[in-house]
Amino acid sequence: MNNFVYNGKEIKYILKRSRRKTIGITITEDGKVIIAAPVNLKKVYIDEALEKRAKWIEEKLELMRERQIKKVCRKFENEEKFHLLGKEYSLKIVSCLKNHEEIRAFGDNELSEIKCSISKASSAINGFNKVKESIYNRDHVYIDSGNLYVIIDNNLYDNETRRQYIREAIKNFYVKNAMNFFKERVEFFSKNMGVYPKKVTVKEVKTLWGSCSSKGSITLNWKLVMAPPHIIDYVIVHELCHFRHMNHSKDFWMEVEKVIPDYKYKRKWLKENGHLCKL
Ligand SMILES: [Zn+2]
Repeated sequence: MNNFVYNGKEIKYILKRSRRKTIGITITEDGKVIIAAPVNLKKVYIDEALEKRAKWIEEKLELMRERQIKKVCRKFENEEKFHLLGKEYSLKIVSCLKNHEEIRAFGDNELSEIKCSISKASSAINGFNKVKESIYNRDHVYIDSGNLYVIIDNNLYDNETRRQYIREAIKNFYVKNAMNFFKERVEFFSKNMGVYPKKVTVKEVKTLWGSCSSKGSITLNWKLVMAPPHIIDYVIVHELCHFRHMNHSKDFWMEVEKVIPDYKYKRKWLKENGHLCKL
């Protein structure tokens, strides 16, 4: 571990030398400072670079500390809050003592009632019809205007298995909603912008919300479905704009701004709140 002093404070860092040409500074989520430097670069130059970016490093470290404190820790208990399209839902675990077939039947019996509350919920989500269709699914997860219900077989599971089962059910629910919602929005903006991706994939990506390939496909992180629709729109437009500019140049951001005039606010929202979109 190396260190340098800034404003009387000692900042420890890990130095990684490799065959690169420039100095790169990364702050990891758990608050480690990693300096990547060219193999033979003298230490004075590394110190100089650190000096220059010290304020930024300090700020980043502070941000990571705050995030660690607020870190989402899921317990999958009743009344715990979950988000779908920016709206908050309280988890309601519905236990069922019967066998699997009967649980399914139990779910179906309630369907008319569920459908009714779903239509109320989705009109609140401003007519995003695809979401409405996908809200009831076969994984025994459904929502009404303020609750997220997960039906489980109470007899079968110990606490940890139960927790995992509920997590998996909610994850499937999110993925399905993400696929439907994202595809509809991609279509909408494609027409709008005259840019048509060949393929849209929804999957889990550790650090990214979205990416696009030069071959014309877009990948979106399903966890984004927890964020408000206008934030999702920004990520989609961002990726579509990469088909015009495969970089983050001035021209690229001008293109984004044409479709999302307040994109800066949305970027900021993602930076500040993105870590809350976790399961
Ligand atoms: Zn980008």
